[in-house]
Amino acid sequence: MQIGFIGLGNMGAPMAANLAAAGHAVTGFDPVAPPPEGVAMAADAAAAVTGAEVVITMLPDGAILRAAAAALIPAMSPGAVLLDCSTVDVDSARAVAAKAEAAGLSALDAPVSGGITGAAAGTLTFMVGGPDPAFARVAPLLAVMGSKAVHCGGAGAGQSAKICNNMILGVTMIATCEAFALADKLGLDRQKMFDVVSTSSGYSWSMNAYCPAPGIGPQSPADNGYRPGFAAELMLKDLRLSQQAAEGADADTPMGALAARLYETFVETEDGRGRDFSAMLPRFERRGRG
Ligand code: NAD
Repeated sequence: MQIGFIGLGNMGAPMAANLAAAGHAVTGFDPVAPPPEGVAMAADAAAAVTGAEVVITMLPDGAILRAAAAALIPAMSPGAVLLDCSTVDVDSARAVAAKAEAAGLSALDAPVSGGITGAAAGTLTFMVGGPDPAFARVAPLLAVMGSKAVHCGGAGAGQSAKICNNMILGVTMIATCEAFALADKLGLDRQKMFDVVSTSSGYSWSMNAYCPAPGIGPQSPADNGYRPGFAAELMLKDLRLSQQAAEGADADTPMGALAARLYETFVETEDGRGRDFSAMLPRFERRGRG
């Protein structure tokens, strides 16, 4: 397939390289990033998408996506699919989809989980919102970049699924970390704590697959000095998006709101920036109730 790829940063570069390695013709644009392997670079975004059957965007946020989409959409071929894989607010995803559809294109919001490792390995999970025929057309590309794609519903459904999932993740990671710190203070061995919780009703992905305690459970960023992994500031971004969506939808999300505040403090006034989001455990370890 002829693919235009806009945004070749930490995530976009390996995704574009995997598509090129699978035999697709990929033309990319990014104002700063170097060309990924096998990807031809264009001078600007419009040149990158001209003649493309599918245009993929992997950009930092909703405002940048809206601005990029305004430049891309007029240059795209009729009937082409705009596949946005960025994590953005639900309103921006819906606004971009409406603009694309008004221009005779189809649009999908398809945020990912799996991080930089998953992007490089081609094992991302895609959560997709948008029309069925567009989903069917990009399915072979999603199969190259990822190992799972769930079609969640109409425009915005992918972003909705992503922020709900990550709101649960932020809350359970905090709960797991504060429970470990409490267990420490009660004199409970961390391995015993893991053995019990990971097979009892307190289990979760945070405990079982990504244990925040070094040397316990499976390999995780905790075993690598809390180098990300999934950086605390990216968790903060997703928690803020969840709260923005909750405000817009009048949903009561007290735990999500508290998780957003805790990650904000961790990233903005403590030492969380640049560390994995599971570094909440050493944060709680050092603290008392006061
Ligand atoms: P990044 O900052 O490494 O890459 C973003 C790229 O977009 C940069 O290279 C930047 O130069 C480029 N860019 C900015 N404006 C542009 C424009 N107008 N036209 C073309 N390119 C432009 O970020 P990333 O880590 O690759 O994340 C991308 C998206 O994926 C974000 O929405 C993020 O939330 C999401 N995400 C990231 C991870 C992760 O672990 N890094 C995991 C899941 C989802």
